[in-house]
Amino acid sequence: MLDADQDPPRLTLLAGYASDGRDTENKQIRLGQGIVGQCAIEKEKILLENLPPDYIRIASGLGEATPLNIIVLPIVFEGEVKAVMELASFDRFTTTHLAFLEQLTESIGIVLNTIEANSRTEELLEQSQGLARELQSQQEELQQTNEELEEKARLLADQNQEVERKNKEVEQARRALEEKAEQLALTSKYKSEFLANMSHELRTPLNSLLILANQLAENPDGNLSPRQIEFARTIHSSGHDLLTLINDILDLSKIESGTVSVEVGEVGFQDISEYVERNFRHVAESRNLGFTIEVDPSLPRGMQTDAKRLQQVIKNLLANAFKFTEQGSVTLRIFPALTGWSPEHPTLGRARSVIGFAVSDTGIGIAADKQQIIFEAFQQAMGGTARKYGGTGLGLAISREISRLLSGELKLQKSAPGQGSTFVLYVPQNFVPVKSRRDEAPKVTVLPSGGSASASGAPAPAPVSTRPAPAPVSARPVVPGHSLVDESTVYDEFIDDRDRLAPGDRVVLVVEDDFAFARYLYELSHEKGFKALVTSRGAASLALARELKPSAITLDISLPDVDGWRVLDRLKDDPATRHIPVFMISVADEPERALQQGALGFQSKPADKEALGKIFDQLREFVDRRLKKLLVVEDDEVQLHSIIELVGNGDVSTVGVSSGREALEALAREHFDCMVLDLLLPDLPGLELLEQLKKQPQLRSLPIIVYTGKDLSKKEETALKKMAQTIILKDVRSPERLLDETALFLHRNAANLPAHKRQILENLHRSDVLLAGKKILLVDDDVRNIFAMTSVLERHKMDVLPAETGMDALDLLEKNPQVDAVLMDIMLPEMDGYETTRRIRQMPAFKDLPIIALTAKAMKGDREKCLEAGASDYIAKPVDTEQLLSLLRVWLYR
Ligand code: ADP
Repeated sequence: MLDADQDPPRLTLLAGYASDGRDTENKQIRLGQGIVGQCAIEKEKILLENLPPDYIRIASGLGEATPLNIIVLPIVFEGEVKAVMELASFDRFTTTHLAFLEQLTESIGIVLNTIEANSRTEELLEQSQGLARELQSQQEELQQTNEELEEKARLLADQNQEVERKNKEVEQARRALEEKAEQLALTSKYKSEFLANMSHELRTPLNSLLILANQLAENPDGNLSPRQIEFARTIHSSGHDLLTLINDILDLSKIESGTVSVEVGEVGFQDISEYVERNFRHVAESRNLGFTIEVDPSLPRGMQTDAKRLQQVIKNLLANAFKFTEQGSVTLRIFPALTGWSPEHPTLGRARSVIGFAVSDTGIGIAADKQQIIFEAFQQAMGGTARKYGGTGLGLAISREISRLLSGELKLQKSAPGQGSTFVLYVPQNFVPVKSRRDEAPKVTVLPSGGSASASGAPAPAPVSTRPAPAPVSARPVVPGHSLVDESTVYDEFIDDRDRLAPGDRVVLVVEDDFAFARYLYELSHEKGFKALVTSRGAASLALARELKPSAITLDISLPDVDGWRVLDRLKDDPATRHIPVFMISVADEPERALQQGALGFQSKPADKEALGKIFDQLREFVDRRLKKLLVVEDDEVQLHSIIELVGNGDVSTVGVSSGREALEALAREHFDCMVLDLLLPDLPGLELLEQLKKQPQLRSLPIIVYTGKDLSKKEETALKKMAQTIILKDVRSPERLLDETALFLHRNAANLPAHKRQILENLHRSDVLLAGKKILLVDDDVRNIFAMTSVLERHKMDVLPAETGMDALDLLEKNPQVDAVLMDIMLPEMDGYETTRRIRQMPAFKDLPIIALTAKAMKGDREKCLEAGASDYIAKPVDTEQLLSLLRVWLYR
């Protein structure tokens, strides 16, 4: 048979018979090989006749003979050779034979093909059966896997249900927790509200006490004996102590509620030791007690923590030790601590190294049963005899909270009655932030290295230039500093340039209570071509400004003695200092207020070096530029000229334009220091012009004075006020006032003005002219306060109408419509100050009446609330007399 797949193709002789008995079956023959091969190629029969006698023999059982002929026949099916058949015969093949054979080969071809097809089908069948078997077994396997999967799914569903149940439980627990947290938040809100109210209640009587005592001590009528003056001073200082206590309480609650920030910096142990020495050596000497400070020699140079807070605790412990010791000695030991703190303490156990501050005394000691409670607020070991030693019982409570804040611990190590006490403060050498009680990490600020100096008070010994730039600069805590630390002792030794001033120097006065930051500004000012005066105190800054006449001032808001805003007010109120450009630098972010009060600019803290550098650049540019530029927008020719006449002279160059469009062009063309705007313009309403200006960031801090004779409608006023968020607006209705306001914003030195203009300004600022004869309605439920305030106001020749309730105030107003201003206490019985103010504003006759609110200022937002209720201004209690008068002057001028 021909195997077509093989190459070269071969023929397989299916059946044949050779006479010599050779079995030719399965003998392979190549195509073309021999006659059979030739036949396969040619597909034609080959007839061999007259064969040689020895070619082949046909044999049977009985005999044999040589055949005569051989015929080789191709077996073809559909043109393909399937096999070749060879037949031998003794006779000749007749034509009939040949025809028969030909037909036979055809049939054989068909049969062969069928056989072949059949065997292939069989093969395929076998294959497919094999596959089916395999499939079956796989199916079985699959089924098994399926069953397993089903089992697993069931298990999973079970687990799911379990998880769901757990989830529900967790959710419930979470909700319960949330509720608790809400309750807690509410409680803490109530607490801080309570504290705020309480501090108000305490400040109210304090107000009169402080004012009157101060007035007595001043002895204006000259009729008090020195002893009486001394009494008055004592009353005043006791009042101050009380104020301190109130601040302590607020401090404690702020620390407890986690709203106090930690300022981390490098604190040197040598510095601490010097600080303690400075503060307590004289106490020891005056009490005849021994006093030793031991700094363990194996300690490193310093540690990373909040210097002020650390000092506060040490100072409190030492103050107690001295207070409760009559004989013997007090010791402060600073050492590397290995144990001693509570084993379960969250951070100390894990800190790489811990520093111990041990304060020991040989004093009265503390009984065992009191050793726990002394850490609670207002608890003293010997309740009854506490008067003997003084104190409030808050010191240790605050100290313990602070040690928590510093992720340390304060412990009473040992104490026994009559044998003295040892308190130990443990603090990690490197501050580790911990979650506070409310599960929030306390706010942490990293001070520039070198901030360690703030612990010692002495300027850092390192040369100025090697100090790295402090970025970010520290943020002051928003809370009033705890008064146990008298910051003035820390700070006033700063050696600035005051002894090195020469005529023609550019001098900047830096008012800043953060030592490290002040030092940084001091160095920066040198870099920027200034000499610098530095102080941490508001009061001192006023005196320095008046005396040394600096060319510029940078002013912090949180100062230990006077609020920075008050300082700004005073500076801007005093003709001698009014022209000095002031740049506010503070964490309290109120740029609009700063600009409105006449500051040149505002920078929020913390700030980077670049921003701070820019402040000095701006100040320098301003100081060096002699000529200030004013833009007046006024369409009335005559008015325009009279304004230019009024304002303009040598140091101011005034550009006058008569339309909004021209104003916009002028502002785009050149820089102006101030703009005066009439609201009635021919081309576009003043308000619209303002709106367009508001959109330009470079004009954000351009002071704009609205100068208009026209009574503004409520709507116009609101619109103007809205604008006030980005543009400084002052509405001014008289030329004198305009001169004054432009002088303020152009920072003109009154001393350089012509005499008659100086006179105008002086009249404007001379209080008595302005205040004398004015009628003031004073609303306060505390008679002592009414008495105290009345005496101050009467000294300035004002008439006072007192009212003790809101109702009284409304009655009085109706009967005395000629009242010039109202001083309104906010905490009033029945109808409070907000409500009373609102009702006054509802009476059309009093919609413009100046109302100055008096509040405790304990809560943020008091100011906003007062202004919302309709108050014109606001002043904090206890009232600062000077500030009250200056406020009245501003409002009575209108
Ligand atoms: P204060 O000292 O203002 O009363 P503290 O909270 O600082 O408040 O202290 C609470 C109480 O702990 C003190 O009144 C005193 O009874 C006790 N105490 C604190 N320190 C000492 C000490 N070194 N020796 C004896 N008693 C002390």
